[in-house]
Amino acid sequence: MPSPTSMNLRCLLRSAAIVSFITSASLLFGQSPATVVVDAGHGGYDRGGVPGQRIVEKDKTLDVALRLRRILQADGYKVIMTRDQDVFVPLGTRVTIANSYRNAIFVSIHFNCSTRLGANGIETYYYSNGSAELAASIHRNVVASAPTENRGIRRRGFFVLRRAAVPAVLVECGFLTNPTEGGLAQTDGYRQQLAEQIARGIRRQPPAVSRPLTPSLAAAGQLGPQPFNADANRDFVRADAVRERSSKSKSSRHRKSSKSSHRTTSQEKKESSSNDEETPHKKKTPKKKAEE
Ligand SMILES: [Zn+2]
Repeated sequence: MPSPTSMNLRCLLRSAAIVSFITSASLLFGQSPATVVVDAGHGGYDRGGVPGQRIVEKDKTLDVALRLRRILQADGYKVIMTRDQDVFVPLGTRVTIANSYRNAIFVSIHFNCSTRLGANGIETYYYSNGSAELAASIHRNVVASAPTENRGIRRRGFFVLRRAAVPAVLVECGFLTNPTEGGLAQTDGYRQQLAEQIARGIRRQPPAVSRPLTPSLAAAGQLGPQPFNADANRDFVRADAVRERSSKSKSSRHRKSSKSSHRTTSQEKKESSSNDEETPHKKKTPKKKAEE
C-alpha cells in the first residue's frame, strides 16, 4: 500500500504529465489550425486568365481545391470551401467566410497567365506579416516538387489577402499560358501533386528540397530579401505592400480590387506592367461588376 507521500508524488507527476500533454497539444494546435478555408479562384462567369485563354483557370483552381479538401479532411482538418462548384463568389464573400472562423487560415488557389508564352513559374503572395510564414511554408513545398521556376514569395495587397483577418496566402500554381506548365496542369497527377504539396505546407512540413529564385528574376535587379526570415529568405521577392492613401482612392481601389482575386491597386498594376509583365494583374476579365 503506498504511503500518503508517494501517493501525493504520483498525483503530482500525473498532473504534470497532463499539463505537459495539454501544452504540447495546444502548441501543435497553434501551429496547425483546425480550420482551413480553401478558396478556388474565380468561378461562374469569371473564368480567370487572359481573354481567349485555352485552358480555363476557374476549372483548374476548383479541381486543385477539391483535391486539397480531400487531403486535409483525411488529416482531420475542418475544411471550408468558398466554392465547391462552378459558381461565381464575390471576393467580399470569400473574405467574410474566412473571417468568420477564428484560428483559421485562408488559402487561395490560382493559376497564372500571360500574353507571353515563355512566362513560367510558381509564385506565392501574402499581405500581413502574420501570413509570411505560412506563405513560405506552402511556397517552398509547392516549388520543391514542381519542374518549373521559383518566382518567389511576394507581399502584395490583393483584395482577399488585404481584407483577411486570418493568415491568408494566394498561390499561383504555374502559368496556364505556358505550353509546359499548361500541359502539366491538365494532368490529374500534377494537380494532385500540387494539392499534396500545398497540404504539406499547411502542415508546416519541410520541403523535400530548397530551391533558389530563378536566376533571370534575381538578375532583374528588382529583388531583395524581405526581413521575415534571415536564414531562409531566398524565396522572398521585394514587393512592398501599398498603403491606403485617401478615402477616395481607397474606394476606387476597392471597386477595382473586387473584380478578381488577382486585382490589386492601380499603383501595383503600374508596377507590374513595367516590371513584371507576367503578373496576372493586366488581364481584362469580366465586364460585369463582381461585387456589391
Ligand atoms: Zn486567378
